[in-house]
Amino acid sequence: MQLTIDGLVLRNQSVGQNRLLTLLTAQHGVLSAYVNQGGTMRSKLSASTEVLCYSRFVLFKGRSGYVVDKGDSNRIFFGLRQDWDKLCLASYFAQLASELCPFDEPAPEPLRLLLNTLHFLEKGSRDMRLLKALFELRLLTLTGFMPDLVGCRCCSAYEKPEMLFFPAEGDLCCAQCAGETSAAGGVKLSPGVLAAMRHIIYSDPEKLFSFTLGEDSLNALYQVSEQYLLTQVEKSFSALELYHSCRIPQPWEPANTDKARTEDEPKQT
Ligand SMILES: [Zn+2]
Repeated sequence: MQLTIDGLVLRNQSVGQNRLLTLLTAQHGVLSAYVNQGGTMRSKLSASTEVLCYSRFVLFKGRSGYVVDKGDSNRIFFGLRQDWDKLCLASYFAQLASELCPFDEPAPEPLRLLLNTLHFLEKGSRDMRLLKALFELRLLTLTGFMPDLVGCRCCSAYEKPEMLFFPAEGDLCCAQCAGETSAAGGVKLSPGVLAAMRHIIYSDPEKLFSFTLGEDSLNALYQVSEQYLLTQVEKSFSALELYHSCRIPQPWEPANTDKARTEDEPKQT
């Protein structure tokens, strides 16, 4: 059986004499395909099989899975390979997608999200902290880890001066309802950060990237989204650790919890 399919290469690893590609595709979600290491075939395919390359593949289904017959790169994201921080972050996105996206089930939205995020990361027109938080929260939303940010879990209030987000439960509680005892584990969210999280989770794909945040809210969003992800997924990600270790430490790290509470409403751009 032959299959022609567009896929973003998430991973390219050695398996014995061959290479195994992990692709993200719209029709089949995460898909694995072998590249036979024959002389000319390997060099003909090399550009299209690089990690973070979006390519059109012709695959054959053999006894032990798909084998790549042809590959033509559509989009190489060359700019990501020129910048170490961007490359580390993009590699983290790829690792996250390979862990969270479904195998052999349609995944058009996760693919679109990843391609758009890589586009903005390459272009440099969005803050990297914003792109990281946006990708994490939206991908979690698309893959079965959607938090409930509609309102307080007790009184249903949509907005209160102080709202707490619970990464383990993935929901909200206002400070009044939480009281002192049940506030443990809750992360205080400013109205700006909560509005940004709601935008990332509930907005239409067309509007997803169209917002900006002030510095303090951005830093708080960056931290709460990573905390939510790691709590929910219960895994560590080598690419995330690499991203943390290679990045130049930011002046705002570790978080200044007082500063992170100031108000910044997300602005539509
Ligand atoms: Zn409440």
